[in-house]
Amino acid sequence: MNNANGILLTPRDGQTFRFDAGTLCLEFLLTGALPEWEQLHAPEDLAAWIPLSRLGLPDEVVVGEADLAEAKRLRAAIQALAERATGVGDSADPEGALAVLNEFAAAPPPVPVVTPSFQRGWATPVTGAQFLSAVARDAVELFGGPMASRVRVCGGERCLLIFLDTSRPGARRWCSMDRCGNRYKLRTRRDRAPRPADAGH
Ligand SMILES: [Zn+2]
Repeated sequence: MNNANGILLTPRDGQTFRFDAGTLCLEFLLTGALPEWEQLHAPEDLAAWIPLSRLGLPDEVVVGEADLAEAKRLRAAIQALAERATGVGDSADPEGALAVLNEFAAAPPPVPVVTPSFQRGWATPVTGAQFLSAVARDAVELFGGPMASRVRVCGGERCLLIFLDTSRPGARRWCSMDRCGNRYKLRTRRDRAPRPADAGH
């Protein structure tokens, strides 16, 4: 299924919300760029995640054990570059991360097709290597272009979600208005309200 509007996330508090990472390569970080979020424990996990991405790829994917390790290698490179772009981390070896992007981008990506009913689709099956190529090509576009300055980390307390701000004014602050944006609104409203102890003074 195509997820142009983002991916459903369920944090530990169980309150599911939709997060739009803005671009494929940052969306891919949701597979577990931070160790406590790890979603990719087996090749099947990667195979199950691939159709969820914003590319709208079919369920027919072929993923092997090697693809799992490669996915994590690419993901770590993207995470390092994204952190560097947001200023929350300083990648010790940005050239190493860039070399990883270029290496993966050199592989052939998924093949677009037009179906007999004049729908846009993809040649199947899609391989893990093809998918990782598409992710890497997206990262090459992002970090090699002007939009790199629009990579942001959510302004929410202890929220580490990273997204590309594609809004026209470039003023997106939150992973989701339903999550951190709303919490911020509630907090500022509460801070402005008179405290019960002050009442009557
Ligand atoms: Zn957030």
